[in-house]
Amino acid sequence: MEKTPQTLLKDVFGYDEFRPLQQEIIDRTLAGKDSFVLMPTGGGKSMCFQIPALCFNGITIVVSPLISLMKDQVQALQANGIQADFFNSSISPQAENDVITRAKNGQIKLLYLSPEKLISVSNTWLRDLNIKLVAIDEAHCVSMWGHDFRPEYTQLKAFRNSLPEVPFMALTATADKSARADIEMQLGLKDSKLFISSFDRKNLSIEVRGQVPKNKKLQEIAQFVKRKKNESGIIYCLSRKNTEEVADYLKADGHSVAFYHAGMNPEERERVQTAFIHDDTKIIVATIAFGMGIDKSNVRWVIHYNLPKNLEGYYQEIGRAGRDGLPSETRLYYNMSDFVLYSQFADDGANSAMQKDKLSRMLQFAEAKSCRRKILLSYFGEHLTKDCGNCDVCANPPKDFDGTLLAQKALSGIARMKEKEGITMLINVLRGSNNAEVHAGGYSQLKTYGVGKDVSFIDWRDYIIQLANQGLIEIMYSEGSALKISPIGWKVLKGEQRIKLTLPVVPEEKNKMRP
Ligand code: ADP
Ligand code: ZN
Repeated sequence: MEKTPQTLLKDVFGYDEFRPLQQEIIDRTLAGKDSFVLMPTGGGKSMCFQIPALCFNGITIVVSPLISLMKDQVQALQANGIQADFFNSSISPQAENDVITRAKNGQIKLLYLSPEKLISVSNTWLRDLNIKLVAIDEAHCVSMWGHDFRPEYTQLKAFRNSLPEVPFMALTATADKSARADIEMQLGLKDSKLFISSFDRKNLSIEVRGQVPKNKKLQEIAQFVKRKKNESGIIYCLSRKNTEEVADYLKADGHSVAFYHAGMNPEERERVQTAFIHDDTKIIVATIAFGMGIDKSNVRWVIHYNLPKNLEGYYQEIGRAGRDGLPSETRLYYNMSDFVLYSQFADDGANSAMQKDKLSRMLQFAEAKSCRRKILLSYFGEHLTKDCGNCDVCANPPKDFDGTLLAQKALSGIARMKEKEGITMLINVLRGSNNAEVHAGGYSQLKTYGVGKDVSFIDWRDYIIQLANQGLIEIMYSEGSALKISPIGWKVLKGEQRIKLTLPVVPEEKNKMRP
Protein backbone atom coordinates (compact mmCIF):
# COMPACT_ATOMS: atom_id res chain seq x y z
CA MET A 1 0.00 0.00 0.00
CA GLU A 2 1.15 3.55 -0.77
CA LYS A 3 2.27 5.50 2.25
CA THR A 4 0.64 8.81 3.06
CA PRO A 5 2.67 11.93 3.86
CA GLN A 6 1.60 11.60 7.47
CA THR A 7 2.87 8.04 7.83
CA LEU A 8 6.10 8.92 6.03
CA LEU A 9 6.65 11.79 8.45
CA LYS A 10 6.32 9.39 11.35
CA ASP A 11 7.97 6.28 9.93
CA VAL A 12 10.87 7.84 8.07
CA PHE A 13 11.59 11.01 10.01
CA GLY A 14 10.12 10.11 13.39
CA TYR A 15 7.98 13.25 13.76
CA ASP A 16 4.37 13.20 14.90
CA GLU A 17 2.99 16.32 13.33
CA PHE A 18 3.57 18.59 10.40
CA ARG A 19 4.59 22.10 11.11
CA PRO A 20 2.30 24.86 9.86
CA LEU A 21 2.08 24.91 6.04
CA GLN A 22 4.13 21.76 5.45
CA GLN A 23 1.05 19.60 4.82
CA GLU A 24 -0.50 22.16 2.45
CA ILE A 25 2.70 22.52 0.49
CA ILE A 26 3.09 18.77 0.20
CA ASP A 27 -0.52 18.33 -0.95
CA ARG A 28 -0.17 21.01 -3.58
CA THR A 29 3.05 19.45 -4.85
CA LEU A 30 1.50 16.01 -5.03
CA ALA A 31 -1.26 17.61 -7.11
CA GLY A 32 1.45 18.64 -9.58
CA LYS A 33 1.45 22.38 -8.93
CA ASP A 34 4.20 24.93 -8.38
CA SER A 35 4.88 26.47 -4.98
CA PHE A 36 6.97 29.25 -3.53
CA VAL A 37 8.06 28.46 0.01
CA LEU A 38 9.31 31.29 2.18
CA MET A 39 10.22 30.04 5.63
CA PRO A 40 12.88 31.12 8.08
CA THR A 41 16.04 29.08 8.43
CA GLY A 42 15.23 26.02 10.49
CA GLY A 43 11.55 26.33 9.61
CA GLY A 44 11.45 22.91 8.00
CA LYS A 45 11.60 23.68 4.29
CA SER A 46 13.34 20.47 3.28
CA MET A 47 10.48 18.30 4.46
CA CYS A 48 8.25 20.06 1.94
CA PHE A 49 10.03 18.38 -0.97
CA GLN A 50 11.48 15.34 0.76
CA ILE A 51 8.12 13.81 1.55
CA PRO A 52 6.64 14.33 -1.93
CA ALA A 53 9.87 12.86 -3.29
CA LEU A 54 9.15 9.68 -1.36
CA CYS A 55 5.55 9.60 -2.55
CA PHE A 56 6.34 10.05 -6.23
CA ASN A 57 7.21 7.12 -8.38
CA GLY A 58 10.26 8.71 -9.96
CA ILE A 59 13.13 11.02 -9.08
CA THR A 60 13.17 14.44 -7.42
CA ILE A 61 15.85 16.90 -8.43
CA VAL A 62 17.07 19.29 -5.75
CA VAL A 63 19.15 22.29 -6.81
CA SER A 64 21.34 23.63 -4.06
CA PRO A 65 24.22 26.11 -4.28
CA LEU A 66 26.35 24.77 -1.48
CA ILE A 67 28.37 21.62 -1.69
CA SER A 68 28.73 21.23 2.08
CA LEU A 69 25.00 21.62 2.55
CA MET A 70 24.26 19.02 -0.09
CA LYS A 71 26.51 16.49 1.51
CA ASP A 72 24.98 17.01 4.96
CA GLN A 73 21.43 16.72 3.71
CA VAL A 74 22.19 13.63 1.67
CA GLN A 75 23.95 11.95 4.57
CA ALA A 76 21.03 12.75 6.88
CA LEU A 77 18.59 11.28 4.35
CA GLN A 78 20.69 8.17 3.85
CA ALA A 79 20.81 7.73 7.61
CA ASN A 80 17.01 7.61 7.50
CA GLY A 81 17.18 4.87 4.88
CA ILE A 82 16.31 7.13 1.93
CA GLN A 83 17.93 6.68 -1.47
CA ALA A 84 19.50 10.09 -1.85
CA ASP A 85 22.65 11.19 -3.58
CA PHE A 86 24.44 14.25 -4.83
CA PHE A 87 26.20 15.26 -7.99
CA ASN A 88 28.63 18.17 -7.89
CA SER A 89 32.18 19.18 -8.64
CA SER A 90 33.49 17.49 -5.48
CA ILE A 91 32.94 13.91 -6.62
CA SER A 92 35.25 11.70 -8.68
CA PRO A 93 34.49 10.55 -12.23
CA GLN A 94 33.84 7.00 -10.98
CA ALA A 95 31.42 8.28 -8.37
CA GLU A 96 29.74 10.32 -11.09
CA ASN A 97 29.23 7.26 -13.23
CA ASP A 98 27.90 5.37 -10.29
CA VAL A 99 25.33 8.08 -9.54
CA ILE A 100 24.28 8.24 -13.18
CA THR A 101 23.77 4.47 -13.34
CA ARG A 102 21.71 4.37 -10.19
CA ALA A 103 19.66 7.38 -11.22
CA LYS A 104 18.86 5.73 -14.56
CA ASN A 105 17.91 2.49 -12.80
CA GLY A 106 15.44 4.30 -10.56
CA GLN A 107 17.54 3.68 -7.48
CA ILE A 108 17.67 7.32 -6.40
CA LYS A 109 14.67 9.14 -5.00
CA LEU A 110 16.34 12.48 -4.34
CA LEU A 111 19.25 13.77 -6.38
CA TYR A 112 20.97 16.95 -5.23
CA LEU A 113 22.84 18.99 -7.83
CA SER A 114 24.65 22.29 -7.89
CA PRO A 115 23.18 24.66 -10.48
CA GLU A 116 26.35 24.49 -12.62
CA LYS A 117 26.21 20.70 -12.73
CA LEU A 118 22.53 20.69 -13.45
CA ILE A 119 23.00 23.01 -16.41
CA SER A 120 25.88 20.95 -17.75
CA VAL A 121 23.98 17.64 -17.65
CA SER A 122 20.45 18.85 -18.30
CA ASN A 123 20.70 17.93 -21.95
CA THR A 124 22.41 14.59 -21.48
CA TRP A 125 21.54 11.76 -19.09
CA LEU A 126 19.39 13.94 -16.85
CA ARG A 127 16.90 14.36 -19.69
CA ASP A 128 16.20 10.62 -19.69
CA LEU A 129 15.27 10.40 -16.03
CA ASN A 130 11.71 10.12 -14.79
CA ILE A 131 11.71 13.50 -13.06
CA LYS A 132 8.64 14.09 -10.89
CA LEU A 133 9.59 17.15 -8.92
CA VAL A 134 12.21 19.89 -8.99
CA ALA A 135 13.06 21.80 -5.82
CA ILE A 136 15.19 24.95 -6.06
CA ASP A 137 16.72 25.57 -2.67
CA GLU A 138 18.14 29.00 -1.73
CA ALA A 139 16.03 30.34 -4.57
CA HIS A 140 16.89 33.94 -3.72
CA CYS A 141 20.20 33.29 -5.50
CA VAL A 142 18.35 33.64 -8.80
CA SER A 143 17.48 37.28 -8.22
CA MET A 144 19.58 40.36 -8.58
CA TRP A 145 17.22 41.89 -6.02
CA GLY A 146 18.19 39.30 -3.48
CA HIS A 147 21.42 39.64 -1.58
CA ASP A 148 23.32 36.62 -2.83
CA PHE A 149 22.91 36.63 -6.58
CA ARG A 150 24.47 33.67 -8.43
CA PRO A 151 24.50 33.95 -12.21
CA GLU A 152 24.32 30.15 -12.68
CA TYR A 153 20.84 30.24 -11.23
CA THR A 154 19.47 32.33 -14.07
CA GLN A 155 19.97 29.42 -16.45
CA LEU A 156 17.46 27.33 -14.56
CA LYS A 157 14.58 28.75 -16.53
CA ALA A 158 15.57 26.76 -19.60
CA PHE A 159 15.49 23.63 -17.46
CA ARG A 160 12.06 24.57 -16.21
CA ASN A 161 10.84 25.10 -19.75
CA SER A 162 12.06 21.65 -20.70
CA LEU A 163 9.84 20.14 -18.01
CA PRO A 164 6.56 22.03 -18.35
CA GLU A 165 4.45 19.37 -16.63
CA VAL A 166 6.68 18.82 -13.62
CA PRO A 167 5.91 20.71 -10.39
CA PHE A 168 8.62 23.15 -9.36
CA MET A 169 9.17 24.37 -5.85
CA ALA A 170 11.22 27.45 -5.00
CA LEU A 171 12.45 27.61 -1.40
CA THR A 172 14.20 30.40 0.44
CA ALA A 173 14.48 31.98 3.84
CA THR A 174 14.92 35.43 2.46
CA ALA A 175 13.07 37.37 -0.19
CA ASP A 176 11.17 40.61 0.01
CA LYS A 177 8.27 41.38 -2.28
CA SER A 178 10.24 42.54 -5.28
CA ALA A 179 12.68 39.66 -4.98
CA ARG A 180 9.79 37.20 -4.82
CA ALA A 181 8.23 38.47 -8.01
CA ASP A 182 11.60 38.34 -9.70
CA ILE A 183 12.31 34.79 -8.54
CA GLU A 184 8.96 33.57 -9.86
CA MET A 185 9.70 35.12 -13.21
CA GLN A 186 13.32 33.99 -13.42
CA LEU A 187 12.38 30.41 -12.61
CA GLY A 188 9.33 30.44 -14.82
CA LEU A 189 7.03 29.30 -12.04
CA LYS A 190 3.47 28.79 -13.23
CA ASP A 191 0.55 29.96 -11.16
CA SER A 192 2.62 29.25 -8.10
CA LYS A 193 1.20 29.62 -4.65
CA LEU A 194 3.17 31.54 -2.06
CA PHE A 195 3.53 29.94 1.35
CA ILE A 196 4.99 32.22 4.00
CA SER A 197 5.40 30.92 7.49
CA SER A 198 5.91 33.27 10.37
CA PHE A 199 9.39 34.67 10.55
CA ASP A 200 9.00 35.54 14.16
CA ARG A 201 11.62 33.77 16.18
CA LYS A 202 10.36 34.64 19.63
CA ASN A 203 13.16 32.79 21.40
CA LEU A 204 15.82 35.15 19.99
CA SER A 205 16.42 38.27 22.02
CA ILE A 206 17.54 41.21 19.95
CA GLU A 207 19.97 43.81 21.14
CA VAL A 208 21.81 46.58 19.34
CA ARG A 209 24.82 48.47 20.66
CA GLY A 210 25.87 51.54 18.71
CA GLN A 211 29.04 53.57 18.63
CA VAL A 212 31.13 51.41 20.94
CA PRO A 213 34.86 52.01 20.41
CA LYS A 214 36.87 48.98 19.36
CA ASN A 215 38.63 48.30 22.67
CA LYS A 216 35.43 48.58 24.63
CA LYS A 217 33.69 46.36 22.10
CA LEU A 218 36.27 43.63 22.61
CA GLN A 219 35.95 43.93 26.37
CA GLU A 220 32.19 43.74 26.19
CA ILE A 221 32.32 40.70 23.97
CA ALA A 222 34.75 39.02 26.34
CA GLN A 223 32.32 39.68 29.20
CA PHE A 224 29.41 38.43 27.17
CA VAL A 225 31.21 35.22 26.30
CA LYS A 226 32.22 34.67 29.90
CA ARG A 227 28.60 35.01 30.95
CA LYS A 228 27.70 32.40 28.33
CA LYS A 229 29.94 29.83 29.98
CA ASN A 230 30.93 27.45 27.25
CA GLU A 231 27.80 27.71 25.15
CA SER A 232 28.11 27.67 21.37
CA GLY A 233 28.06 30.98 19.59
CA ILE A 234 29.07 32.78 16.43
CA ILE A 235 30.65 36.21 16.04
CA TYR A 236 30.30 37.71 12.58
CA CYS A 237 32.91 40.21 11.41
CA LEU A 238 33.22 42.24 8.28
CA SER A 239 36.84 41.51 7.47
CA ARG A 240 39.06 38.44 7.59
CA LYS A 241 41.53 40.41 9.65
CA ASN A 242 38.89 41.18 12.25
CA THR A 243 37.93 37.51 12.59
CA GLU A 244 41.52 36.64 13.43
CA GLU A 245 41.93 39.56 15.83
CA VAL A 246 38.76 38.84 17.74
CA ALA A 247 39.51 35.11 17.89
CA ASP A 248 43.00 35.85 19.23
CA TYR A 249 41.58 38.16 21.84
CA LEU A 250 39.14 35.55 23.09
CA LYS A 251 41.69 32.78 22.92
CA ALA A 252 44.01 34.82 25.14
CA ASP A 253 41.07 35.01 27.52
CA GLY A 254 40.98 31.22 27.69
CA HIS A 255 38.02 30.46 25.44
CA SER A 256 37.51 27.62 22.99
CA VAL A 257 37.47 29.62 19.78
CA ALA A 258 38.45 29.45 16.11
CA PHE A 259 38.19 31.82 13.17
CA TYR A 260 36.76 31.04 9.75
CA HIS A 261 36.90 32.94 6.48
CA ALA A 262 37.12 32.45 2.75
CA GLY A 263 40.87 33.06 2.74
CA MET A 264 41.49 29.70 4.41
CA ASN A 265 41.90 26.54 2.39
CA PRO A 266 38.88 24.25 2.06
CA GLU A 267 40.28 21.49 4.32
CA GLU A 268 40.96 23.95 7.09
CA ARG A 269 37.51 25.44 6.80
CA GLU A 270 35.93 22.01 6.85
CA ARG A 271 37.93 21.16 9.98
CA VAL A 272 36.86 24.31 11.82
CA GLN A 273 33.25 23.82 10.82
CA THR A 274 33.19 20.18 11.92
CA ALA A 275 34.78 21.00 15.26
CA PHE A 276 32.06 23.58 15.84
CA ILE A 277 29.25 21.22 14.87
CA HIS A 278 30.61 18.56 17.21
CA ASP A 279 30.94 21.06 20.07
CA ASP A 280 34.74 20.65 20.12
CA THR A 281 35.07 24.37 19.39
CA LYS A 282 32.54 26.56 21.17
CA ILE A 283 32.98 29.89 19.45
CA ILE A 284 33.49 30.68 15.80
CA VAL A 285 34.57 34.14 14.72
CA ALA A 286 33.76 34.31 11.04
CA THR A 287 32.94 36.35 8.01
CA ILE A 288 29.49 35.76 6.55
CA ALA A 289 31.05 32.94 4.52
CA PHE A 290 30.27 30.83 7.59
CA GLY A 291 26.99 29.26 8.45
CA MET A 292 25.01 28.75 5.28
CA GLY A 293 23.69 25.26 5.44
CA ILE A 294 25.02 24.47 8.87
CA ASP A 295 22.35 22.61 10.78
CA LYS A 296 23.38 23.09 14.37
CA SER A 297 20.47 23.41 16.72
CA ASN A 298 22.19 24.51 19.93
CA VAL A 299 23.87 27.75 18.89
CA ARG A 300 22.99 29.89 21.92
CA TRP A 301 24.09 33.31 20.72
CA VAL A 302 25.16 35.33 17.70
CA ILE A 303 27.08 38.59 17.81
CA HIS A 304 27.57 40.92 14.88
CA TYR A 305 30.86 42.73 15.31
CA ASN A 306 29.96 45.08 12.46
CA LEU A 307 26.82 46.34 10.80
CA PRO A 308 25.49 43.76 8.31
CA LYS A 309 24.91 44.96 4.75
CA ASN A 310 21.18 44.39 4.81
CA LEU A 311 18.34 43.13 6.96
CA GLU A 312 18.04 39.91 4.98
CA GLY A 313 21.57 38.91 5.83
CA TYR A 314 21.22 40.06 9.43
CA TYR A 315 18.05 38.08 9.98
CA GLN A 316 19.51 35.00 8.39
CA GLU A 317 22.63 35.24 10.53
CA ILE A 318 20.88 35.77 13.86
CA GLY A 319 18.53 32.97 12.80
CA ARG A 320 21.39 30.52 13.21
CA ALA A 321 20.95 30.87 16.95
CA GLY A 322 18.29 28.97 18.84
CA ARG A 323 17.08 26.63 16.14
CA ASP A 324 16.06 24.26 18.93
CA GLY A 325 13.59 26.89 20.15
CA LEU A 326 15.39 27.59 23.43
CA PRO A 327 16.08 31.19 24.49
CA SER A 328 19.10 32.57 22.66
CA GLU A 329 20.75 35.96 22.58
CA THR A 330 21.75 38.12 19.65
CA ARG A 331 23.70 41.34 19.76
CA LEU A 332 24.58 43.71 17.00
CA TYR A 333 27.41 46.24 17.19
CA TYR A 334 27.66 48.99 14.67
CA ASN A 335 29.67 52.10 14.14
CA MET A 336 29.17 54.89 11.69
CA SER A 337 32.48 53.85 10.14
CA ASP A 338 30.99 50.49 9.02
CA PHE A 339 28.29 52.40 7.27
CA VAL A 340 30.60 54.81 5.53
CA LEU A 341 32.85 51.96 4.41
CA TYR A 342 29.97 50.03 2.85
CA SER A 343 28.55 53.11 1.21
CA GLN A 344 31.85 53.44 -0.60
CA PHE A 345 31.89 49.75 -1.59
CA ALA A 346 28.42 50.07 -2.93
CA ASP A 347 29.47 52.92 -5.19
CA ASP A 348 30.69 50.67 -7.92
CA GLY A 349 29.03 47.67 -9.42
CA ALA A 350 25.54 46.91 -10.60
CA ASN A 351 22.43 47.77 -8.57
CA SER A 352 24.41 49.94 -6.20
CA ALA A 353 21.35 52.10 -5.58
CA MET A 354 19.51 49.08 -4.26
CA GLN A 355 22.43 48.04 -2.10
CA LYS A 356 22.58 51.51 -0.60
CA ASP A 357 18.90 51.51 0.01
CA LYS A 358 19.13 48.19 1.82
CA LEU A 359 22.07 49.44 3.80
CA SER A 360 20.16 52.53 4.86
CA ARG A 361 17.32 50.37 6.06
CA MET A 362 19.79 48.30 8.01
CA LEU A 363 21.10 51.43 9.67
CA GLN A 364 17.62 52.73 10.38
CA PHE A 365 16.90 49.45 12.12
CA ALA A 366 20.06 49.77 14.19
CA GLU A 367 19.20 53.32 15.20
CA ALA A 368 15.51 52.68 15.78
CA LYS A 369 13.71 53.72 18.94
CA SER A 370 10.77 51.36 18.62
CA CYS A 371 10.40 47.59 19.01
CA ARG A 372 13.07 46.03 16.83
CA ARG A 373 11.20 42.84 16.12
CA LYS A 374 8.28 44.87 14.79
CA ILE A 375 10.58 46.71 12.41
CA LEU A 376 12.32 43.54 11.30
CA LEU A 377 9.18 41.54 10.70
CA SER A 378 7.42 44.36 8.94
CA TYR A 379 10.36 44.47 6.56
CA PHE A 380 9.49 40.89 5.65
CA GLY A 381 5.82 41.74 5.33
CA GLU A 382 4.63 40.47 8.68
CA HIS A 383 2.94 42.85 11.09
CA LEU A 384 3.03 42.33 14.83
CA THR A 385 0.21 43.95 16.73
CA LYS A 386 2.12 44.16 19.99
CA ASP A 387 5.67 45.07 20.93
CA CYS A 388 7.77 41.95 21.43
CA GLY A 389 9.10 42.39 24.94
CA ASN A 390 12.30 40.61 23.96
CA CYS A 391 14.41 43.35 22.43
CA ASP A 392 16.51 46.08 23.96
CA VAL A 393 14.06 48.82 23.00
CA CYS A 394 11.14 46.98 24.62
CA ALA A 395 13.28 46.43 27.70
CA ASN A 396 14.04 50.15 27.93
CA PRO A 397 11.40 52.12 26.10
CA PRO A 398 12.86 55.49 25.23
CA LYS A 399 11.33 58.51 26.88
CA ASP A 400 10.35 61.24 24.49
CA PHE A 401 10.34 64.99 24.95
CA ASP A 402 9.73 68.09 22.87
CA GLY A 403 12.86 68.20 20.74
CA THR A 404 11.95 71.21 18.65
CA LEU A 405 14.60 73.49 20.09
CA LEU A 406 17.37 70.91 19.72
CA ALA A 407 16.24 70.21 16.18
CA GLN A 408 16.27 73.93 15.37
CA LYS A 409 19.83 74.26 16.65
CA ALA A 410 21.00 71.41 14.45
CA LEU A 411 19.02 72.52 11.41
CA SER A 412 20.22 76.06 11.73
CA GLY A 413 23.81 74.79 11.91
CA ILE A 414 23.28 72.84 8.72
CA ALA A 415 21.74 75.83 6.97
CA ARG A 416 24.56 78.15 8.04
CA MET A 417 27.14 75.70 6.76
CA LYS A 418 25.29 75.80 3.45
CA GLU A 419 24.36 72.09 3.63
CA LYS A 420 27.90 71.16 2.77
CA GLU A 421 29.09 69.38 5.92
CA GLY A 422 28.55 66.02 7.54
CA ILE A 423 27.52 64.96 11.02
CA THR A 424 30.91 65.25 12.71
CA MET A 425 31.52 68.81 11.60
CA LEU A 426 28.00 69.81 12.55
CA ILE A 427 28.41 68.45 16.05
CA ASN A 428 31.80 70.06 16.45
CA VAL A 429 30.32 73.40 15.49
CA LEU A 430 27.28 73.00 17.74
CA ARG A 431 29.55 72.06 20.61
CA GLY A 432 31.91 74.94 19.95
CA SER A 433 34.88 72.68 19.35
CA ASN A 434 38.36 74.10 18.88
CA ASN A 435 39.05 71.58 16.14
CA ALA A 436 41.32 72.96 13.39
CA GLU A 437 38.87 72.02 10.64
CA VAL A 438 36.14 74.02 12.33
CA HIS A 439 38.35 77.07 12.29
CA ALA A 440 39.60 76.41 8.78
CA GLY A 441 36.00 76.35 7.56
CA GLY A 442 35.42 79.69 9.25
CA TYR A 443 32.65 78.02 11.21
CA SER A 444 33.68 79.39 14.59
CA GLN A 445 32.25 82.71 13.38
CA LEU A 446 28.77 81.25 12.91
CA LYS A 447 25.90 82.17 15.18
CA THR A 448 25.31 78.50 15.90
CA TYR A 449 28.88 77.94 17.07
CA GLY A 450 28.68 76.55 20.60
CA VAL A 451 24.89 76.71 20.97
CA GLY A 452 24.81 72.97 21.74
CA LYS A 453 27.64 72.82 24.28
CA ASP A 454 25.43 71.26 26.94
CA VAL A 455 24.77 68.09 24.90
CA SER A 456 27.49 65.44 24.60
CA PHE A 457 28.92 64.47 21.24
CA ILE A 458 27.38 61.02 21.38
CA ASP A 459 23.96 62.37 22.29
CA TRP A 460 24.10 64.87 19.45
CA ARG A 461 24.84 62.08 17.04
CA ASP A 462 21.87 60.18 18.36
CA TYR A 463 19.56 63.18 17.97
CA ILE A 464 20.77 63.94 14.47
CA ILE A 465 20.12 60.36 13.37
CA GLN A 466 16.68 60.64 14.89
CA LEU A 467 16.13 63.79 12.84
CA ALA A 468 17.19 61.83 9.76
CA ASN A 469 14.91 58.95 10.69
CA GLN A 470 12.05 61.39 11.08
CA GLY A 471 12.78 62.81 7.66
CA LEU A 472 13.98 66.29 8.70
CA ILE A 473 17.47 65.74 7.44
CA GLU A 474 18.80 63.83 4.50
CA ILE A 475 22.27 62.33 4.54
CA MET A 476 23.67 62.63 1.04
CA TYR A 477 25.99 59.66 0.70
CA SER A 478 26.74 60.71 -2.83
CA GLU A 479 28.12 64.03 -1.54
CA GLY A 480 30.50 62.93 1.17
CA SER A 481 27.62 62.38 3.59
CA ALA A 482 26.70 66.07 3.65
CA LEU A 483 23.55 66.88 5.60
CA LYS A 484 20.64 68.56 3.78
CA ILE A 485 17.45 69.94 5.17
CA SER A 486 14.21 68.45 3.86
CA PRO A 487 10.96 70.42 3.39
CA ILE A 488 9.72 69.21 6.82
CA GLY A 489 13.08 70.20 8.26
CA TRP A 490 12.60 73.75 7.00
CA LYS A 491 9.16 73.87 8.59
CA VAL A 492 10.61 72.87 11.93
CA LEU A 493 13.41 75.36 11.55
CA LYS A 494 10.90 78.15 10.89
CA GLY A 495 8.86 77.13 13.91
CA GLU A 496 5.86 75.99 11.88
CA GLN A 497 6.00 72.47 13.25
CA ARG A 498 7.11 70.85 16.50
CA ILE A 499 8.82 67.47 16.83
CA LYS A 500 9.56 64.88 19.48
CA LEU A 501 12.89 63.29 20.22
CA THR A 502 13.68 60.42 22.51
CA LEU A 503 16.40 60.42 25.13
CA PRO A 504 19.40 58.37 24.08
CA VAL A 505 19.47 55.06 25.94
CA VAL A 506 22.54 54.91 28.12
CA PRO A 507 24.54 51.69 27.94
CA GLU A 508 24.11 50.96 31.67
CA GLU A 509 20.35 50.91 31.25
CA LYS A 510 20.68 48.56 28.35
CA ASN A 511 22.58 46.21 30.58
CA LYS A 512 19.57 45.83 32.83
CA MET A 513 17.77 43.67 30.32
CA ARG A 514 20.33 40.92 30.76
CA PRO A 515 19.76 38.10 33.19
P1 ADP B 1 15.24 24.78 6.67
O1 ADP B 1 15.65 24.07 5.42
O2 ADP B 1 13.95 25.50 6.54
O3 ADP B 1 16.32 25.66 7.23
P2 ADP B 1 15.18 22.17 7.76
O4 ADP B 1 14.38 21.56 6.68
O5 ADP B 1 16.64 21.88 7.80
O6 ADP B 1 14.95 23.72 7.80
O7 ADP B 1 14.51 21.76 9.15
C1 ADP B 1 15.03 22.19 10.36
C2 ADP B 1 14.86 21.12 11.41
O8 ADP B 1 13.48 20.93 11.70
C3 ADP B 1 15.39 19.77 10.94
O9 ADP B 1 16.11 19.21 12.00
C4 ADP B 1 14.13 18.99 10.62
O10 ADP B 1 14.32 17.61 10.77
C5 ADP B 1 13.15 19.55 11.63
N1 ADP B 1 11.75 19.39 11.19
C6 ADP B 1 11.22 19.63 9.98
N2 ADP B 1 9.90 19.37 9.97
C7 ADP B 1 9.57 18.96 11.20
C8 ADP B 1 8.35 18.54 11.82
N3 ADP B 1 7.19 18.49 11.15
N4 ADP B 1 8.40 18.19 13.12
C9 ADP B 1 9.56 18.24 13.81
N5 ADP B 1 10.74 18.62 13.29
C10 ADP B 1 10.75 18.97 12.00
ZN1 ZN C 1 10.60 44.54 21.02
